[in-house]
Amino acid sequence: MKPGYPEAVTPAVLAAELLAGLRAQLPPDVKLAGFEVAIGELVDVDVAALVRELRAGAGVVDVQVKRVAALYRCLDCGAEYPPEESPCPVCGSARAELVSGDELTITRAWAAPG
Ligand SMILES: [Zn+2]
Repeated sequence: MKPGYPEAVTPAVLAAELLAGLRAQLPPDVKLAGFEVAIGELVDVDVAALVRELRAGAGVVDVQVKRVAALYRCLDCGAEYPPEESPCPVCGSARAELVSGDELTITRAWAAPG
């Protein structure tokens, strides 16, 4: 690893981090067959390249990508809305928190049979 955290995180670095996190949760002798990765639409990454790195790093071919739409929640009225409707279409408030859209996580993994 390079010192510090790079400004532009490459697909290879992201893949390595995701796989390290996944392996930490799996029994050491499990043979991984595939997994699903959720990528928020606000995550600035080359998805095809990331999937390539994940396949290569994990030694599996079954990598499924689930894109997650960005969603804000209004801090004043609680309405949820996509970023392009900002400010809040219900009450007009610009105070909002991000509910989804910036995640990058492995949501499911499955082992090879037998
Ligand atoms: Zn509102």
